Amino acid sequence: MLANGRPYLAIPGPSAMPDRVLAAMHRAAPNIYAGPLPDLVETLWPDLRRLAGTSGHVGIWIANGHGAWEAANANLFSRGDKALVLATGRFGIGWAESARALGVEAEMLDFGRAAPVDLSRLEVALKADHTHAFKAVLVTHVDTATSVKNDVAGIRAVLDAVGHPALLAVDCIASMGCDEMRMDDWGVDLIVGASQKGLMVPPGLGLLWVSDRAVERCRQSDLRTPYWDWRQRFTATEFWQYWNGTAPTHHLFGLRESLDMIAEEGLENVWARHAALARSVWAAFEAWGQGNSQIRLNIAGPAHRGHSVTAARLGPAPNATRLRAWLEKNAGVTLGIGLGMAAPDDPAYHGFLRVAHMGHVNAHMTLGVLATMQAGMVALDIPHGPGALDAAARVVAEAVAGAA
Ligand SMILES: *Cc1c(COP(=O)(O)O)cnc(C)c1O
Repeated sequence: MLANGRPYLAIPGPSAMPDRVLAAMHRAAPNIYAGPLPDLVETLWPDLRRLAGTSGHVGIWIANGHGAWEAANANLFSRGDKALVLATGRFGIGWAESARALGVEAEMLDFGRAAPVDLSRLEVALKADHTHAFKAVLVTHVDTATSVKNDVAGIRAVLDAVGHPALLAVDCIASMGCDEMRMDDWGVDLIVGASQKGLMVPPGLGLLWVSDRAVERCRQSDLRTPYWDWRQRFTATEFWQYWNGTAPTHHLFGLRESLDMIAEEGLENVWARHAALARSVWAAFEAWGQGNSQIRLNIAGPAHRGHSVTAARLGPAPNATRLRAWLEKNAGVTLGIGLGMAAPDDPAYHGFLRVAHMGHVNAHMTLGVLATMQAGMVALDIPHGPGALDAAARVVAEAVAGAA
């Protein structure tokens, strides 16, 4: 009844696309041999390096995030190589599955669905690897299923402290352009990214940022197939070599626009905006939870929560699913499902949801999501504590005052 108006897909990817990005893509097919497109692409590389905080290599594959995982795995490893995967949710597990399917021996440390990587367990695992068999440690920066954020610099510190030479590879698909990332300062060797989350471009670009050290150490990797091989892409002298074929023409115009928008706002301001919006969502959930012990943020410690997505229990099941359906039908808002928290055929599945606040999102969008969630809880008789919207509004007011 009240859904007409601009819909808001508040799921953790694809994220809301700015009109500026859409407009930049709205054009005739460009020449892929000379002219504006090849010129534009040369401006993307330095800006993408700045975004990740690296002076290393960058490559773009026509692929989604799963493709970017495969690009990373195919170049990092040879058949039978060992990897140590630090899993903190469905996406860490997914990266391990991709590696295993290619023939990598991926050993997993699983930290469950509600906690970050425990650095002391990592230390024990690395020390037990006397022969330094692990070629790389794979970890998700923000796991989009659990919304946990891992301490990437802390993981590098453990590797260095125990003198383990493994490369550090980080999935930043859900965090790039949302949460602070300083690839070189934090000693990261490889970052996996994708276009449809913090980068505000439609799905279709898989990105890798790679250190010199990783390129050097992976010279002999034998899982490469021609399409995923990063060597030609990092040393391209002809335009087609960046893509191993036709360029993702329109996505590149969109990406140029989104990088311009990030530069105009300032990357640190973009991070601060995401942090403030995340805190407003957390404040609302905490207030709702005061009146219903089944409403609870998934991650207890604020320092371990990602700033682009919030996973929560909204029970008892099936209240989360009822609320999602109500919002989509009556408020024009689509919330995320509770991915990986329970099997889809388990009734408990319907007691989890996720709220995305990722990319092109501002205060009215996030406060609007929270207010319509509360309207839905009232309409559906879902018990909830008072004061959630006041608390969220206060976070926004204080963030603005603090930045002035
Ligand atoms: C979205 C996401 C992926 C998967 O990306 P797809 O484009 O759906 O293949 C992987 N890792 C993380 C952290 C993500 O958020």
